[in-house]
Amino acid sequence: MSNIKLKSIAGKSVCFYFHRKNCFKEASGTCSLFAEEEFKKQFTNLEEKATPERCPTILELMQISKTKLFPVYLSKYRCGHYQNGQGQHRICIAGHLGLEIKVIIDSVKDKDCGYCTNPESFILKHF
Ligand SMILES: [Zn+2]
Repeated sequence: MSNIKLKSIAGKSVCFYFHRKNCFKEASGTCSLFAEEEFKKQFTNLEEKATPERCPTILELMQISKTKLFPVYLSKYRCGHYQNGQGQHRICIAGHLGLEIKVIIDSVKDKDCGYCTNPESFILKHF
């Protein structure tokens, strides 16, 4: 689709559903994009989505096929924060590294985001 543009998500606050089973940072304390190899080696029994290889692999895909990956949908919530379902790792990677990503801002929700509703289960990141 031609109306989908690559966008930066700088300046946005995004709510993520990250936890020990789908995010290396939540499992280890350090993001896999920035962790030393020696540090990563200490963690051997992680869930598949929380392994230290996952986000570097996604980043590689994002760089190889910038326009081929399906776009991520972001919704803006009443609280002013953004949240999405699928593709949250890509949003997080793009936000941390200042990369542009194919994103569709699809709607404004008439409710608060997951973090504002349930901060124990969600994480809010400011890019
Ligand atoms: Zn919020």
